[in-house]
Amino acid sequence: MATFYIQQFGCRATQADGAAIERQLLDRGCTAASESASADVVVVNTCTVTASADAQARDAIRKLHAANPAACVIVTGCYAQRAPEELAALPGVSWVVGNSHKPQIPDLLQTLSSHPSTPASVAFFPAAALEADSMSLLRAPAKILTGNIFDRTEFLSAPVLGGEGNHTRPTLKIQDGCDSRCSYCVIPFVRGKSRSLPPEMVLQEIQRLSESGFREIVLSGINLGTYGRDLSPRVDFEDLLRRILDETSVERLRISSIEPLDVTQDLVELFASTDRIAQHFHMPLQSGSDRILAAMRRWYRAEHYARRIELIRERLPHAAIGADVITGFPGESEAEHAATLAFIERLPFTYLHVFAFSKRPGTKAASLSNEVPGAIIKRRARELRALSEAKSAAFRQSQFGRTLRVLTLRRDNSSEVSADDATPALSSNYLKVRVRGSHPANNCLDVLISGETGTALVGEPILVCSAPLE
Ligand code: SF4
Repeated sequence: MATFYIQQFGCRATQADGAAIERQLLDRGCTAASESASADVVVVNTCTVTASADAQARDAIRKLHAANPAACVIVTGCYAQRAPEELAALPGVSWVVGNSHKPQIPDLLQTLSSHPSTPASVAFFPAAALEADSMSLLRAPAKILTGNIFDRTEFLSAPVLGGEGNHTRPTLKIQDGCDSRCSYCVIPFVRGKSRSLPPEMVLQEIQRLSESGFREIVLSGINLGTYGRDLSPRVDFEDLLRRILDETSVERLRISSIEPLDVTQDLVELFASTDRIAQHFHMPLQSGSDRILAAMRRWYRAEHYARRIELIRERLPHAAIGADVITGFPGESEAEHAATLAFIERLPFTYLHVFAFSKRPGTKAASLSNEVPGAIIKRRARELRALSEAKSAAFRQSQFGRTLRVLTLRRDNSSEVSADDATPALSSNYLKVRVRGSHPANNCLDVLISGETGTALVGEPILVCSAPLE
């Protein structure tokens, strides 16, 4: 069977798709190659959330082809769904498979392997074994396999390990697609309708991960708060969380991102009732200006968002509260940018992810003519990032003298091994902590916060928890 390599781009949802393809290929007897240069088949799993994500994917494909011209390159993911012809025109690409047909990639490999006359299949054999004729077949135009994404009901997911330089906290995608239509966002057009992994499968995956020793599991989705609305019978996200706590042995769950209006009193109470859900809310804000929020077709206004933050702060005074912010949406005035800065300034955010507006073909916002000049967008992004750093620093300092329960992470070979002989760790409230001494990864420690070093807190270990947290 073929050896394969999956080159991943994009968000956790896209990486979960890549992990699922990997699982399917391994189940069918394919072998994972350690690098793209030695693989018969390279699957490039793309993102298209910004123009620069597109450019990165094209660049990677060119480099892959130059380094391994014999490989059969299959390009899939969100970019493949949005603009398959663009990718098919790149040299070295054999197949472009949209998200609509992504679950069929393993079948495609199998079919091609059993029909060696099909051009792309010649690449499944080592380059040295190829005849000259076969090599010329490799340059045949790429084939495209895409369909209407809104017809798709399959759910492709497998836990993802890695990210943030560690392999300690697997991410499990439990929801895909989105039924909203924010005017700047291309995701619904490349991922389709909202759909959910059935609760029994969620519980099974979590229990399996937990039994294999993982202590923290991150739940992710494209629009996680809509989890279960497509299922019959319908399932509430809060009920799913309760079942996970009751029916699995997971020690700590983290919710990757949730829309502000899905942060209900019930959800906050649930977070406050247990140490087994990380005290961490990531709620996309996008703008602090009501006019821009309306133009973005977001369904809340700044004060609705502020009330959700107050709800969290009342019950969880030390929770992490993060937000995505888009700067430079068409027509955003200086006063509207200032309103966003002022809104963020007055609320207890603990970090921001700042994005420059990127025009995505096919979206409503792409047709707006009043674009903000690039230099202004850059300056506004700098101002927002500076504010984010100030908010993060204030939050870190508010933790001095507190005891935090942290999970130790795997050290990198490079940056994490430093002269201070400390072990990287992550707190429930999403703070990086450097714990004094050398500790194995995936250990739960109580640490006293004695100061900070760079953007991490310094923790003095108090107690090693070998027993479950609760
Ligand atoms: S909620 Fe809006 S921003 Fe988020 S995926 Fe859906 S359309 Fe995109």
